[in-house]
Amino acid sequence: MEKSPFDIVIVGAGAAGLTTAIAAGRGQSKNLKILLVDSRGKVGAKILVSGGTRCNVTNRKVTPFDFQGGPSHFIKHVLEAFTPDQTKRFFEEIGVDLILESTGKYFPVTRSGKTVLEALLKESEKCGVSLKTGFRVTGIEKKGDVFLLRGETGDLLARRVVLATGGLSLPETGSDGMGLSMAASLGHTLIKTTPALTPLTTNDKDWMELSGITLNAALTFFEDGKKKAECEGSLLFTHFGYSGPVALDISRFFAYSDPKHSPEIEANFLPGHTPEALNKRLEIFRKKHPNKQPKSFFIEEFGLPERFVETFLRKNEGKNPRQLLHPIAHTPLSVTGVVGYRKAEVTAGGVDLKEVRVSTMESKIIPGLYFAGEILDVDGRIGGFNFQWSWSSGTVAGRSAVLKLP
Ligand SMILES: Cc1cc2nc3c(=O)[nH]c(=O)nc-3n(C[C@H](O)[C@H](O)[C@H](O)COP(=O)(O)OP(=O)(O)OC[C@H]3O[C@@H](n4cnc5c(N)ncnc54)[C@H](O)[C@@H]3O)c2cc1C
Repeated sequence: MEKSPFDIVIVGAGAAGLTTAIAAGRGQSKNLKILLVDSRGKVGAKILVSGGTRCNVTNRKVTPFDFQGGPSHFIKHVLEAFTPDQTKRFFEEIGVDLILESTGKYFPVTRSGKTVLEALLKESEKCGVSLKTGFRVTGIEKKGDVFLLRGETGDLLARRVVLATGGLSLPETGSDGMGLSMAASLGHTLIKTTPALTPLTTNDKDWMELSGITLNAALTFFEDGKKKAECEGSLLFTHFGYSGPVALDISRFFAYSDPKHSPEIEANFLPGHTPEALNKRLEIFRKKHPNKQPKSFFIEEFGLPERFVETFLRKNEGKNPRQLLHPIAHTPLSVTGVVGYRKAEVTAGGVDLKEVRVSTMESKIIPGLYFAGEILDVDGRIGGFNFQWSWSSGTVAGRSAVLKLP
């Protein structure tokens, strides 16, 4: 064990840990001993796989309403402390030019997460932060003013600790929940965790047979018959259920729900059209094409995929064209569950924000302990929001952790 403590040890070298390291390194007024540790030999695995390896770094517009979990005023404060505009400038400064796609998502111009990871690692080294890989922290205790971090291959001492260990999603990337257990062992309350941004499963063979078909849809989540959430975007039928951004976005609500409250998901396969407008379109279509079947109406007027329309019509056999307009906008989807952490892009739940100081990310329970990233009870929708949370919370944690070090 090192005899003199590190000034700051950051546990976890993912998006949040690396940003924390850079903010701390840049913010130090004297030569501090800052150490970034990670259980993996190769760090930043999530940055590399993100956005289909293209890494959707942030979004044109990021608001607290793009997130679920802790209170939105907390999320707002943190996002304002390091905004998407500052994020873009930060990446440009470290040599990662970003490009805006029509969806509002920002990617590196190289369309490669590797560019992002390499730039972050280089900058963190430039800021004087040491990196220790293959070091899994298994426990933390505070003895007086110093933290003792127990590792599988030895112990470390630190005057300040930042937990940036991620949550439970995609555990093979290193986020196996150990960080959450350590936060709990230090007295922090954990808000129940569930997989989020993960595909949904079904037992409806008709939809499963459409595996590979994508269409635009709005999904509404109900509990006890009451609408609780609505998402719109691309829906992908798979051999086990539903995927695509809209299914991933709604999954956290289903995963969180209690079967006692009759969770249901309803699909609108023609979002953005009122029943009146649909009726009118049908009337005009039938006048123009009196001999055409309803199938042609859905395919020709709205561009719905033919195989999808055939399945939809089979499921609604016996209904006349006008009667089909209700189910096309209100089809109950049979959902048996969510795929789980092995496919989840993020974790819902985590360290309760009530026990964290909003302007510093410091624990209200253990002075000198900080949090950043997915370990906290914040999860964003698809579109670069989760990384933005990591960049923003990491920057706040790093900037604060270097202040007033004795
Ligand atoms: C497939 C996929 C695609 C995604 N695409 C996007 C996207 O395009 N845009 C977007 O905004 N978000 C995306 N996300 C979400 C985003 O990757 C996460 O929100 C973000 O990486 C969280 O960062 P983090 O640093 O908090 O945690 P992580 O990235 O999970 O990093 C935590 C690190 O801590 C280490 N660690 C954990 N426990 C210990 C321990 N006990 N001791 C030492 N080290 C430890 C781990 O090894 C890991 O390196 C995606 C996620 C996945 C899984």
